[in-house]
Amino acid sequence: MRKQILIVGAGFAGMWAALSAARLADKNNSQAIDITVIAPQPELRVRPRFYESHVETLVSPLMPLFDVTGVKFLRGTVSDIHTDSRSVSWKDADGDMHQHSYDRLVLASGSHVNRSFVSGVAEHAFDLDQLESAAVLEKHLQSLASQSESDARNTVVVCGGGFTGIEMAMELPGRLRDILGSNAKTRVVVVERGPQPGSRYSEELRNVVIDASNELGVEWIVNAEVESVDAAGATLKDGQRIASSTVIWTVGVQASDLTAQIDAPRDRQGRLHVDANLQVVGHEEIFATGDVAYAATDDKGNHALMTCQHAILLGKFAGNNAAASLLGVEPSPYRQEMYVTCLDLGAWGAVYTEGWDQQVKLTREEAKKLKVSIVSELIYPPKAERTAAFEMADPYAPFV
Ligand SMILES: Cc1cc2nc3c(=O)[nH]c(=O)nc-3n(C[C@H](O)[C@H](O)[C@H](O)COP(=O)(O)OP(=O)(O)OC[C@H]3O[C@@H](n4cnc5c(N)ncnc54)[C@H](O)[C@@H]3O)c2cc1C
Repeated sequence: MRKQILIVGAGFAGMWAALSAARLADKNNSQAIDITVIAPQPELRVRPRFYESHVETLVSPLMPLFDVTGVKFLRGTVSDIHTDSRSVSWKDADGDMHQHSYDRLVLASGSHVNRSFVSGVAEHAFDLDQLESAAVLEKHLQSLASQSESDARNTVVVCGGGFTGIEMAMELPGRLRDILGSNAKTRVVVVERGPQPGSRYSEELRNVVIDASNELGVEWIVNAEVESVDAAGATLKDGQRIASSTVIWTVGVQASDLTAQIDAPRDRQGRLHVDANLQVVGHEEIFATGDVAYAATDDKGNHALMTCQHAILLGKFAGNNAAASLLGVEPSPYRQEMYVTCLDLGAWGAVYTEGWDQQVKLTREEAKKLKVSIVSELIYPPKAERTAAFEMADPYAPFV
């Protein structure tokens, strides 16, 4: 009987898991393993760029790559994981239900922003979490030009000053100028729960964010939380009201709901606890990777974050180890000591830091060049060429 590795999700982690599993099977001359990816689309959606315009272009096709590496693809969405019978239920694009069994399951179904815990967010706020919602936001921003001039039209409220909120906010002054004209009195306001802009980051990084905000005219309301959102703006918990036609929600990212179907410990964001081989605690036939995995990156207490930087390497290790466990090969423990951040700061430039203590190494134009090369080249799928793809899928291949 052929063994089945089933990978749920075709994002950064799922794509690399599939290639890495195929690489190890190929290296061991094994024809006895089927590697199958189930996802709604055979394309990599480049989520880190969803604050940019032309979001519909931020996708990369995966079928040519899967075809040359022997990875099978099923277009659909997994609804249920049956750990007892080692199978999943999934719905195809026509709405028909199917079952697929597995010997090893690699869960790589990503994350989503939680829009349900503040009143009015689900109905009235925009987000840039998924391609579809980012496209809705972009269309709305374009439509502001045809609305009559008002403070609400000219004001955008960004809820949450984490990385996503900062990148979106810094992009907006330029975007709004392009849409509304340079004479429009536009306002971009970030509402942040912490005591200062970028309060979760190192002092050095925080100072860069403050400098860029001042130069671009991005306002911060700190020590503040959104109480509710409606069609005409946002109300804060202290009663402050901001009239705005555009409230953008970036707070509360959660791991895919499929994680809740596996009886195993999870962190506050719903990520499954995994061991060094990325096997879910208590389920040696299930691997979790990317945004659904709570994985130690080193022996110093650091854990992978919900970033593409981590998802790519987690994917390579998870796929490798899923195949290794079927081939009787030693697994490769996941390690990712190096942690960097590269934050786009709109017309100001960008900032690049190294280490968990976020030491600033590059700023402005130099950092911007690096940011552009990371998000428009480095994180894209490899070329559809078997040998090159397998070389890159090696968990120990050099990775910046
Ligand atoms: C606006 C924004 C900006 C970001 N900026 C950065 C950044 O600058 N740097 C950085 O490193 N990271 C950034 N990130 C985070 C990064 O995008 C994620 O960490 C990364 O996409 C996680 O990869 P993943 O493969 O785990 O999940 P995803 O990329 O989300 O992929 C999940 C896959 O699973 C599929 N899927 C979901 N549910 C199911 C289901 N039920 N059945 C089948 N398939 C399913 C999806 O369709 C998708 O194919 C940003 C994210 C956002 C939203």
